[in-house]
Amino acid sequence: MRAIIIIIVAILALGYFLRARPGGARGPSGKMSADGSHDMAQDPVCGKFVPVAEAVVRRPDGQVRYYCSDDCALRDS
Ligand SMILES: [Zn+2]
Repeated sequence: MRAIIIIIVAILALGYFLRARPGGARGPSGKMSADGSHDMAQDPVCGKFVPVAEAVVRRPDGQVRYYCSDDCALRDS
């Protein structure tokens, strides 16, 4: 009788552990890297697609533009 309770508790704890661990490990870091790799912007100067997280951001006319490098940002302004 006691063994059954221990097994049920163990299964519940294991289920919680398995559910919580990948979410906790993958959630914050995975989400951040996913956002960084999926948010792509096109460089208006050379046409290259650059990740927004790594892009050079300029607002030459109030509109946000993303450049692959400082060279392209300077060439556009
Ligand atoms: Zn460029």
